[in-house]
Amino acid sequence: AWSPSLAFDKADFIIYNGKVITVDPQDRVVEAVAIKDGKILQAGTTQEILQLADADCKSIDLRGKTVTPGLIDSHYHLMYYGAQFWPGYLNIRHPVVTSKADLLQLLQQHVASLQPGEWISGNQGFTLRMFETINRGDLDAVIPNNPAYLRHCSGQYSVVNSAALDSAGIDNNTPNPPGSLIMRDEQGNPTGILSHYPAENLVGQYAAGYGDRTDQQKFEDIERGQQLAFEAGYTSVQDVIVGSIRDIMLYKQYADSGLLKIRLYAMLYIDVEQEADTLAKIFKPVDSGLFHFAGWKLAMDGGIAARTTLFYDKSLYAAQISYPYHTQDELNRMVQTLHNTGLQVAVHVSGDEGIDMTLTALEAAMKANPRPEPRHRIEHGLFPTASALQRMKENGIILSTQPQWISWYSDGFEQATDASAMANLLPMKSMLDDGIHLAFGCDVPASLYQEPKWAFNGAILRRSVQSGIVYNPEQKLSAQEALRIHTMGSAYAGFAETTTGSLEPGKFADLVIWSHDLYTMSPSKLIDLAAELTMVGGRIVYDAGENVVVSVASSPAELPIPRRVEWLQNYPNPFNASTTLQFVLSATADVEITLYTLRGEELRKWRFESCPAGLRTLNWDAVDQAGKPVAGGMVLCSIRVGEERVVAKLILLK
Ligand SMILES: [Zn+2]
Repeated sequence: AWSPSLAFDKADFIIYNGKVITVDPQDRVVEAVAIKDGKILQAGTTQEILQLADADCKSIDLRGKTVTPGLIDSHYHLMYYGAQFWPGYLNIRHPVVTSKADLLQLLQQHVASLQPGEWISGNQGFTLRMFETINRGDLDAVIPNNPAYLRHCSGQYSVVNSAALDSAGIDNNTPNPPGSLIMRDEQGNPTGILSHYPAENLVGQYAAGYGDRTDQQKFEDIERGQQLAFEAGYTSVQDVIVGSIRDIMLYKQYADSGLLKIRLYAMLYIDVEQEADTLAKIFKPVDSGLFHFAGWKLAMDGGIAARTTLFYDKSLYAAQISYPYHTQDELNRMVQTLHNTGLQVAVHVSGDEGIDMTLTALEAAMKANPRPEPRHRIEHGLFPTASALQRMKENGIILSTQPQWISWYSDGFEQATDASAMANLLPMKSMLDDGIHLAFGCDVPASLYQEPKWAFNGAILRRSVQSGIVYNPEQKLSAQEALRIHTMGSAYAGFAETTTGSLEPGKFADLVIWSHDLYTMSPSKLIDLAAELTMVGGRIVYDAGENVVVSVASSPAELPIPRRVEWLQNYPNPFNASTTLQFVLSATADVEITLYTLRGEELRKWRFESCPAGLRTLNWDAVDQAGKPVAGGMVLCSIRVGEERVVAKLILLK
């Protein structure tokens, strides 16, 4: 494994004494990995890797822990997910709202705090129980005087009240925007349900935090989004709905200014044919360091909960108000135009009929203007028929999908479809065996949670979180298969498999240290899996404080150097009024102690010069620098001695 030609290259970072899952072609698991200039220098045994340490090499002793390549998310909404935590939105996401009753109760409480006419703008979004529906009458009963714009979690429809329809000037005579519906009752009155983006935007453009987001806010959204992605263990994400050229340019500016730390691949979303014609002529790919724009995104149907899934069987509840967002002819023309730009084309579609229509358009475009590996993609693709699988295989069409939905939504899918539809639900094992390219993504905020443990949970167990029912157990994947899809598979879907997706010499040092070993842990414990440290290009971008980063001497004989500071558990812990921090110093040193929140906000800081060696204690009375009591929850305590830092968790009970 150790190549003599690299013997003179020294590492600037080594990670050793654990299990390093490389996801290389042999799926090797080694003990250690060496990094130089942001790239993998070598992977091998601890002994081999320690010899590569340079004079000022940093290191992490894994103490048996597991490293994998950084996870790559093939279907993410980075800027938009970051926006979800904007304080101006009413938080209506799971688990705050899980039913119609929850939503109405929350709105009723919230409305009391508003000025007349002030907007209620929800983040994305609420979930209801299966078969529950909601309309403007339900909202009017609790919000008579304030316009309200509330998006469903899936992002496939919104519900608005009468005040919102009035504000946007929507009435019986307002035509449906192309590819979307203003739902109406028998008298032709809008019901308050707006199906799909163009109809939703009729109201959304006026709602606080939607149409009016400033560039500065959008930068903050990107910043928050990338931090959340790092905490989950993603080192690359593919943002499959960038809504405008403005947003593409904001991503580029953010990258050019050096603030982007995640690898970001973007696709521009297109609603209507005219837009496709225009953009195809004027817009060129962008390749700007960590940021790439290289794809187009279309949609052909909606979602299960929205009842807009394009199934052949229109009697299914999931297809009750389904309609193709584009006719076959229009889709053919749009896909051809976009394919001819040389960029990738991805289509959001889940129903069997919609998938077949999409494949027809992709096949025609590729046949009329062939090129090697355009890597066109189906997003979600929940219910493909056997013939659709065959067509995907023959044409190299990638399926980019969300196994998390099996964990969280499969009971709902079953209620909203039938046994023959459910027999086709994400046949991932068959697809893998057939050589079809798969990629995984979490699709937040259209999914409940962003952590990749939910993708692994769905793919490996195929078990509903609520009912415990296992759906199509013969389609379960192994942990090895699921990890390969979430790394190399997603890398392939974004044309990045030669530089990311595995820990092999020459590739970027994008990696994650995990709380558990995905390969050996019990699948029933998967929900405990957490990222502890995330690195992009050799740079630590997230550190939960579980792993100590130290500098090492150049001579292998001295490795590893003893620690200068050792944390002892504070007492009491958990605590309420006060707690005593204690640590041991091996020599006299300057010590800096910082307390901060999980979000990284600093609470309190102490500096001690020439602190004597031995056991040291410090009492903390649970107040911040300004003397204000600190809110309950987890508090992180960092003790820094020179280059060395230990981080411990304190639990404050209130
Ligand atoms: Zn999505």
